[in-house]
Amino acid sequence: MNLELQLHPGLPVVPHPAAGELLGSWLLRVAQVYGLDLRDLLVCLGAVTPASRTSPSWYALHHSHLRCPQLAAALRRPVELIAAMSAPRCERYWPTELGFCGQCLDEVTAAGASHTWLRGWMHPIALACEKHRQWLEPIATSRLRDVRTVSDFSLLPRRSTEWSAFEWRRESALIDGALWLEHIVTHPAEHQPPWGKTVPSQLAKILSSLIQVLMSPAAADLVRHQLGRSIRNLPERRQRWACQTFRIDDGVTGTVSLAAPDPLRHRQFVFGLLGHYLQLAPSNRAAMGALTTLIASEIPTWHLARWPPAAAEWISPRSARTPPRSRPDRPSTRQPKPRPPVPLFGL
Ligand SMILES: [Zn+2]
Repeated sequence: MNLELQLHPGLPVVPHPAAGELLGSWLLRVAQVYGLDLRDLLVCLGAVTPASRTSPSWYALHHSHLRCPQLAAALRRPVELIAAMSAPRCERYWPTELGFCGQCLDEVTAAGASHTWLRGWMHPIALACEKHRQWLEPIATSRLRDVRTVSDFSLLPRRSTEWSAFEWRRESALIDGALWLEHIVTHPAEHQPPWGKTVPSQLAKILSSLIQVLMSPAAADLVRHQLGRSIRNLPERRQRWACQTFRIDDGVTGTVSLAAPDPLRHRQFVFGLLGHYLQLAPSNRAAMGALTTLIASEIPTWHLARWPPAAAEWISPRSARTPPRSRPDRPSTRQPKPRPPVPLFGL
C-alpha cells in the first residue's frame, strides 16, 4: 500500500479561515494550535514531503506548491477553498515592499480573534485599505519572511503620519485613485475602465506605459515639487526610480506583466495619481493640465496607435487625433528641458 496516496483522516481541531484570509496565514494559525512550525505541520499532514528542499514562505504559499488533496482532507475543507485562498503568484520577484492595514489587524484582535493576514494585501497593486480609506503600511518582504506565528503580526513596524488638512485632501484624492485602479486591474469582470472593456494584458501594457511617463526625467519637476515630501522619498531629478516588472497571476485574470515602482510608497503615489487622472473625463481635467501635456508629449503617437482607439481618445485625446508617425530606429538622445512646477490637482 502506498501510504503517500492515503488521505489524512482529518485534524480534530481546525480554526475557521477568516473572510479574505491568505492561505499562509490560516496555516500559521493551524500550526499554532498544534505547537508546530509551518513546515513541520505541512510535512505531518503530507502536504509536502520531508525531502522537499525548498518550501515557500508562508506569505507566498500557493496551492501548486502543495499536495492539495492531502491538505484539504487534513483541514476538512474542499480543495477549491484552498486554491481560492492561495497567494497570487508573482514572478520573478515579489516587490521589495508589500503593505498591510494595521487597523484591520487590530480590529480582528480587539474582537477576540487571532491575527489574520488578508490575501488582498498580497497583490503588488494593493495600495490602500478600502474599509479604512487609508494607505497600507509598507512592510519589507524580507521582514515578512521572519514571521513564524500570527502573533508576530503585532510586532510589525508601523509609522504614524500626521497630515495637514491640505495634505489630507491631496492624499484622499490619491487613495481614491489608487483604489479605483486596483479594482479595474484585479476585478475586471465587475469594474471596467471608463473607455470600455479592455483585456487585462492590454490594460497592464497601457498602465505600464503611463507609469513610465510618470517616472521619466521629463516628469521629475512635476512629481518632485508636488509630492516630494519626506515620507515618500521620491527620487531626485538625477536619480532613477527603483522599478520592477511583476508577472502576476492572481488566479482571476490570468498572468499580466506590470512594470511599477518597487517601494510601496512610490507605487502608492504613481498609481494614485494615475487613477485620479484616468477617472476624470478629458473635459474635466483642467486642474491636471500639466499631466495631460506630459502624457501627450511623452507617449509617441506610434505607441498610442497600438492601444484600443477608445482608450487612446480617453487618455490622451490630443495625441489620439494626430496621425501616427513611424517608430524611430533609435531612441532619442534629446535631454528633456526642466519644467517649472505646476499644481497637479489644482489644490
Ligand atoms: Zn483596514
